[in-house]
Amino acid sequence: MTTITLAESIAAIRLRIAAAARAAGRDPAAVTLVAVSKVQPEERVEAALAAGQRVFGENRVQEAQARWAERRAAHPDLQLRLIGPLQTNKAKDAVRLFDVIETVDRPKLARSLAEAMAAAGRRLDCLIQVNTGEEPQKAGVAPSEVEAFHRLCAEECGLSIRGLMCIPPVDEPPALHFALLADLAARLGLPVLSMGMSDDFETAVRYGATHVRVGTALFGLRVSPERPTDRPAEA
Ligand SMILES: *Cc1c(COP(=O)(O)O)cnc(C)c1O
Repeated sequence: MTTITLAESIAAIRLRIAAAARAAGRDPAAVTLVAVSKVQPEERVEAALAAGQRVFGENRVQEAQARWAERRAAHPDLQLRLIGPLQTNKAKDAVRLFDVIETVDRPKLARSLAEAMAAAGRRLDCLIQVNTGEEPQKAGVAPSEVEAFHRLCAEECGLSIRGLMCIPPVDEPPALHFALLADLAARLGLPVLSMGMSDDFETAVRYGATHVRVGTALFGLRVSPERPTDRPAEA
């Protein structure tokens, strides 16, 4: 894949996002493209940066450190979002590297993040991951528990909870899950909705996504695809 192809691919995804937003009567600028760079070769990441992409999603702390720690210095306007499950023993590293944690999903993690942020003197924006399909193998809080968990995160832990994130079940139409997430966020007065991936980001935009997380449609197939959704080992 050449630089030109990747730049074109980013432009094409942006056009599709903008079209979906306009069709839904939304401002295209209200939707941020999160380029999911996990497991992608270095040259594709460089090509994305060269094409002006600045918001990236990663789902493993160590892999993200290796890829981004030095690049951060060269690109101060970079925004890194953790979109994968986080073990509490990696909370410190995550807080040092990332700008946004999208996968807060249990009290122990909320407390570890709050401690790590206090120690680092950084207050990251956070999202609560919601298991909209209530799948047993999947991370995220159940829809019925979101309100109580939000209260724990915001009031007890002092986290800056900005919104909600979900990964719908692979074998169901995603629209109902996006609608549910949007409804939960509206009830809590939360402005950020991270939903929609390569196969369904236009639907997500229609339902109010503010952040779509696009990997393969943008970068091409990952070298070793992995399931994005499993719980961290400790949970
Ligand atoms: C890998 C991943 C994505 C991107 O998936 P694609 O289908 O490649 O666009 C989005 N969100 C999460 C949480 C992921 O782990």
